[in-house]
Amino acid sequence: MDPEVARTNLLEKRADAMRRLRGLDASFADIVEAARDSNLDDEHDPEGTTVAVSRAQVSSLASETRQQLDAIDAALERVADGSYGVCSRCGQRIADARLDALPVTTTCVDCARSAGRASS
Ligand SMILES: [Zn+2]
Repeated sequence: MDPEVARTNLLEKRADAMRRLRGLDASFADIVEAARDSNLDDEHDPEGTTVAVSRAQVSSLASETRQQLDAIDAALERVADGSYGVCSRCGQRIADARLDALPVTTTCVDCARSAGRASS
């Protein structure tokens, strides 16, 4: 894959993830705000459970998104040092179709398959 194409794809993904993270931070703030309001009324408000659940969901989505950002940054570093698109297990080039679908992948499809088999 052309490193410039890879870089553009990754930067787009990075911008998407950043937007998603900002959205999640905003909803997290809303939920915290809502929780503060409802706690004034009644600490054992059934609403409180819902708030805790949505807080947990938002924070797990946010940490997922942060992990994606880390993976994207790592992929961008590989683009910069020229190792992008090379399988980290067997050293073969990763097919463009796979990089299109999974821009942050570090393994070729064969190695991914054998890793899947080994771990299951
Ligand atoms: Zn491989």
